[in-house]
Amino acid sequence: MDNCIFCKIAAGEIPSRKAYEDDRVLAFYDLEPQAPTHILVIPKQHIAWANDITPENSADIAHIFEVIPQIAKDLGFTDYRIINNCGDQAGQSVKHLHFHVLSGRDFTWPPG
Ligand code: 5GP
Ligand code: ZN
Repeated sequence: MDNCIFCKIAAGEIPSRKAYEDDRVLAFYDLEPQAPTHILVIPKQHIAWANDITPENSADIAHIFEVIPQIAKDLGFTDYRIINNCGDQAGQSVKHLHFHVLSGRDFTWPPG
């Protein structure tokens, strides 16, 4: 999608430090890490937010949740937090669906 920063990262038009890639999913390190390990996992196809997950595209989202444990295994961590911010009030700043994977420190609950 034009003017979507994560579509440009998925297409390789904007550089990123990749953690994992296949034909449907890209995982790359967040520019402003909030934990010792902070990876963003995105579908390569443009889906704006979790509200746009449908029966037609949900296989790629399921695939993301197969990829995340694989990334954790490859990077050698077992404990982590997965976050999806859906919408402005939830703190979504980039309107291309992404899952934050954070690891390497303690996390509080509730998240605030
Ligand atoms: P959100 O606030 O939408 O849930 O998360 C967006 C995340 O994308 C933020 O953590 C932000 O640091 C990260 N981010 C924004 N632009 C870029 C970029 O160009 N490259 C990378 N690697 N991360 C980005
Ligand atoms: Zn996009």
